[in-house]
Parts: sequence; C-alpha cells; structure tokens
Amino acid sequence: MNPEYPRKHSRRFNSYTEYFKQLFGGRVQKLAIDAGFTCPNRDGKVGRGGCSYCDNKAFNPSYCNPEKSVSTQIQEGIEFHRIRYRRASQYIAYFQAYSNTYAPIETLRKLYEEALAFPEVIGLVIGTRPDCVNDEILDFLAELSKKVYIIIEYGIESCYDKTLLKINRGHDFAKTRWAIEESARRGIRTGGHMIIGLPGESKEEILQETDIISALPLNTIKFHQLQIITGTGMANEYNSHPEDFNILGIDDYLLLMMEIVERLNPAFVIERIAGEVPPPFSVNQPWDMRYDAVLQRFEQLLEKHDTWQGKFYNPTK
Ligand code: SF4
Repeated sequence: MNPEYPRKHSRRFNSYTEYFKQLFGGRVQKLAIDAGFTCPNRDGKVGRGGCSYCDNKAFNPSYCNPEKSVSTQIQEGIEFHRIRYRRASQYIAYFQAYSNTYAPIETLRKLYEEALAFPEVIGLVIGTRPDCVNDEILDFLAELSKKVYIIIEYGIESCYDKTLLKINRGHDFAKTRWAIEESARRGIRTGGHMIIGLPGESKEEILQETDIISALPLNTIKFHQLQIITGTGMANEYNSHPEDFNILGIDDYLLLMMEIVERLNPAFVIERIAGEVPPPFSVNQPWDMRYDAVLQRFEQLLEKHDTWQGKFYNPTK
C-alpha cells in the first residue's frame, strides 16, 4: 500500500532533509556553534550542576569552540563541510551549546547578526531552555524571523514533571508549553528535543507523551535515546543502580520509535530519531552503529510493517 503522505516525497516520515530541500531548493547543512553561553541550571540562577544527563562536550564538533568567535567557527565549519561532504552550499547556523537565549538582548542581537552576515548562512537554529525566553526575546526573534529562517529548538526532554524533577531540569512542563505556544503565537518556528527512555518512564507513558507533544504547535522534533555520558550525575546513578534504568537495544528502541512515529502528528518534521555520542563519552553505548545505518534500519522497519508517521495520530487526544 502506498499511504497518502502529507508531504511531497515518498519517505514514510516527514524527513528534515526533504523538508529543507523543499524549503530552500537544495541540501542545507547545519553548522554547530558554541557562542560561549552558559545555562541557568549551571550558573546558580535556577540550579547548579545542570540536568543530570548533561555534558555538552560530548556533542560539540571539533570546529566548535567558545574561545573562537562566531565568525571563525562558521568559517571553519563551512571549510570542514566543504572538504568532508562537498554537498552543501547553504548553511544554517546552529547555536547549540548550552542555552542560546540566556544573555541580554543586545548580546543576542550581536551574536545572531554575526552569523547571519555570512551570505552562505540562510538562517538560525537556536537551542535553548523554555525558561530562557521572555516576551522581549520572543518579540525580537519574531521580528528577525520575518527576514530569515529562524527556529527555536526547545529542550522538552519529557512531558512529565516527576521525570523533569528526577533529572534536575529546573523547570516544569507548564513552562515548556508556555514557551512553545508563545513562540508559535508570534509566528516563530519551534522545534522540540525529546529523550526517550528516561528513568521511571514506562512504555505506555512514553506513548502517551507522544499524544501530548503532538498537540503542541511544533514544526520540528528530534528524538534521542537516553545516552549516559561519562562523568555526569546520571552516570553515577547508573553505576550505583543500573536496575533503575531500562536501556534499550537497537531493535527494541526502533520498535518503540515506530510506535511513537505512528502516533506522532504527521505535520511535524522529524529531524532525528536517535542520537550519536562518541563511544569514549558513553557509559551505556549499546549500539555500534552510525546514525545513517540506524535510520536506514528504521526505514526498513516502517516498510516491513507498512506503516508511517501519523498512521495512528489522533488529534482529539
Ligand atoms: S539545560 Fe541544557 S545546557 Fe543546561 S544543564 Fe540542562 S542540558 Fe545542560
């Protein structure tokens, strides 16, 4: 059966690569930037020590270093991708490390404009916490997004306050809902980041969470399996009580992801279905696979089960 996909390509989920191709007429590469921000859950404003799973060092590419200016990081990032992939000529600057709206508005304006000054940079992805935006910042980003492609990527991680408390997020789900709705109300594109397999969450809760997320005004969504990073608070918890964690192997994870995707709002663009932490950083790395191979296996699974994103989406939930 060939399902009626609500998009103009034949993949069984709303893929980020295809979305960018349709939007910009070609491949677009994201350039990760560490602009030297910190995070209120680390500097004491909200908490100290951060979320229990967090270690940003595990996620930064080599060209991404806060001691270098935004311009230098972009130049080096473009060069890196030109040599390595030779496919992209358009770039999105991805303000990735820590909380990238956690600064006075003039600082934000200067940093974002520095990135947008490159003709190859056609937009920004701004990763942040829901409690690091306010009316002033959102009004500013709403104005900016009238001129260039802007998306605010919110760390949602979980819809459950019991989980957010356990992982020391320092905010509740009501804050997340507020930030996403206020952004969308102003016409700013919004993305969400979820962690699948956080301790204490049952499979049924994870699937119900999909219904909650599906009702939010999100444009894009990114899923990561729980990865426990060396040296984090969560790594200590895992080493002391591994029985509290349900670490999924690749096959079980992809089956769960299939059920999530079947229930997911078909309008959402799926940016990733899994994360990739370099093995030296990972305490629990259960898969010895690159992301491309994981994605290929996932698409084969959807094909085998003749299923697709939104097959069981229920907008009334
Ligand atoms: S909000 Fe982000 S940067 Fe801050 S501690 Fe949590 S995961 Fe780390």
